Amino acid sequence: MKQATGVVTKALGNLLSVEFEGAIRQGEVGAVLLGDLSLMAEVIEIAGNQAKMQVFEDTKEVVYGAKVSFTGHLLEAELGPGLLGTVFDGLQNPLHKLAARSGLFLERGVYEPSLDREKRWLFTPSKEVQAPLVPGDLLGSVQEGNITHEIMLPFSCYGEWTLEFLAPQGEYQIEDAIAKIVDREGNLHEVTMLQRWPVKSPLQIGKKRSPEEVLNTGLRIIDTQFPILKGGTFCAPGPFGAGKTVLQQHLAKYSSVDIVVIVACGERAGEVVEVLETFPELVDQKTNRPLMERTVIICNTSSMPVAAREASVYMGTSIAEYYRQMGLDVLLLADSTSRWAQAMREMSGRLEEIPGQEAFPAYLASRIAAFYERSGVISSRGKTGSLTMGTTVSPSGGNFEEPVTQATLSVVGGFHALSRARSDARRYPAIDPLLSWTKYLPKVGKVMSTLLPNWTESVLACAKMVREGDEIGKRMEVVGEEGVSTQDMITYLKSELYESAYLQQNAFDPEDTYTPLERQLEMFRLLQHLFCQEFRFNTHDEARTHFLDLQHHLKNMNYLVYRSKEYQEAYRLIEEKIGLSAGVLV
Ligand code: ADP
Ligand code: MG
Repeated sequence: MKQATGVVTKALGNLLSVEFEGAIRQGEVGAVLLGDLSLMAEVIEIAGNQAKMQVFEDTKEVVYGAKVSFTGHLLEAELGPGLLGTVFDGLQNPLHKLAARSGLFLERGVYEPSLDREKRWLFTPSKEVQAPLVPGDLLGSVQEGNITHEIMLPFSCYGEWTLEFLAPQGEYQIEDAIAKIVDREGNLHEVTMLQRWPVKSPLQIGKKRSPEEVLNTGLRIIDTQFPILKGGTFCAPGPFGAGKTVLQQHLAKYSSVDIVVIVACGERAGEVVEVLETFPELVDQKTNRPLMERTVIICNTSSMPVAAREASVYMGTSIAEYYRQMGLDVLLLADSTSRWAQAMREMSGRLEEIPGQEAFPAYLASRIAAFYERSGVISSRGKTGSLTMGTTVSPSGGNFEEPVTQATLSVVGGFHALSRARSDARRYPAIDPLLSWTKYLPKVGKVMSTLLPNWTESVLACAKMVREGDEIGKRMEVVGEEGVSTQDMITYLKSELYESAYLQQNAFDPEDTYTPLERQLEMFRLLQHLFCQEFRFNTHDEARTHFLDLQHHLKNMNYLVYRSKEYQEAYRLIEEKIGLSAGVLV
């Protein structure tokens, strides 16, 4: 079929009106031709023979009458071996290759195939290929770093097929035919290791299940107090400088998942550079292999307009879903979704739509909800994979009442609220235990109770203690220390100790930055004994001295290598101080 063509009749920022001939569809990708340059654009509205298109590039020099050629394709992700370890832009151009071509400053209109066409992969056919074959069925596998990358029947091969040919074990490029399949009518179709999927359509083949497994992050405040399940969703809103990006980078490094997809959607350029500089050097704790081997990074470059932010969010999600389909645990991190929402607002304004709250489009909440819907646990072919989504929101001035935070809050399962007061006081991670919450506590509690009896009750008791401690602290600011009872003073000191020695963690100390679950449990157990104790102090000062001394020892223990001699000694000493005979706790 001949592809449609068009001409530009109007331009407003990166929104173009195009008069077209032929058939096009919503979401179709077209190229705006500027001499040798062609700029990628997407159809967002069609009326009669007029289309509105958003261009993913700077529209400088686009003139009245400029030609547009449509592709017939939607915005798609290329899926196949070679995704891991790569840095892409929002349109899935591999940035290192672009840079090699255009040098330090990326030019617009320069596109590169997402995946390497030359590289050879050792393909091992699967033994259990059976008829009928349906999309997502296993054909074979290749080894991608530490990951066994499953080659599945392309998701867009709808219907049932029989296998005509499956390539023997050997080295193939991703565009080589590794299988031939026939449908009921006898049509033959060649299958390669490379497949495409429209990024805005959820990729979910199989049965969706409710999340059950705990996601460990090595951050005590998350794992213990506000835990997350694999396949769940969580969000960290916070003002500028509160530690959102540091938190996301921590999660990317230490979360207990197989694959991490990082979407840096247009936060400060320096942060993206930092990710690109630090990530290639990091080593995965579990496997001792470079962390990049399990990571895909998608970031927007400064040369691209905001429309690319939207593309990058969806691009990241499709890649994450692809790996989930192989039965892997995937974590998608997006920093920050506010930038994406701003892109929606800008485009909605240009389309002259009726604005909603704070000029965001009325469909903001439904777009946000549809995005988080793509998370979850999926079972197919006897395998279970999960996609967990963790995002940040950057509300201006840290006001959580604004539409993006509110729309996000109504759909996510966990909320880690970062507060300016905490980050100013250098209490990191600045997750505010008074504002944060998680819906996963009952399920996580079931798992954790097998490791530590009464785990859920203890966590809830700690939350209550922190709330009371905060109230007492505020009261003391007004009436002075002498105005509160010794019992209140003790509650206050306990909650201070819990916050500073347990909930806070120094991201820049090699030991304290990551606390494995066993270590968290060991310490949490110790603290529960302390919190249950009855004290009789004669003066406030006596109480303070006791708790500050304990707090000091606990904090120091966090910096010691786990299970080292020093750690064991510090642990014993604290046991003694709490009045437990050595060995009772471990
Ligand atoms: P945001 O992304 O919210 O604007 P960042 O994540 O860039 O904020 O954090 C700003 C600064 O705060 C960091 O450069 C770092 O100095 C400090 N910071 C944030 N989190 C931590 C942490 N967990 N430990 C120590 N310092 C932190
Ligand atoms: Mg940031």
